[in-house]
Amino acid sequence: MSKFLKRKQLSNKRKMDLSKYMNAFKNTGQILEGIKNNVFKSEHIEAEAAKRWATCLNCPFLDIIGKDCLIKGAAPCCSKCGCSLKYKTRALSSDCPVGNWNALMDEETEDTLKEKINYKEP
Ligand code: SF4
Repeated sequence: MSKFLKRKQLSNKRKMDLSKYMNAFKNTGQILEGIKNNVFKSEHIEAEAAKRWATCLNCPFLDIIGKDCLIKGAAPCCSKCGCSLKYKTRALSSDCPVGNWNALMDEETEDTLKEKINYKEP
């Protein structure tokens, strides 16, 4: 593993683990309350994306070249669903098609969260 990846992993461990945090919220109403209270930040989404990406890096369905991407030039992709992993890992309502990681919220809640925190896709 490169020094850059090791440093990135350490940095991500220090950040809040969003999926654990989401488990603390039992339902959509509480999640929306958390959004209202400004508990969620863009960095939480990025930390979750980094965690998911670390899983994808070790997955046999990772398509680095992009031959199975639904959209040309969207590599790296998941060869199981064809999605660009840059976006899929940041979509909190998205899940891994073979169960390696789970959706954390429904699409409506995700849209609300991203709008409230002014989240911009990198
Ligand atoms: S989304 Fe799931 S199946 Fe696709 S590359 Fe990532 S871990 Fe593998």
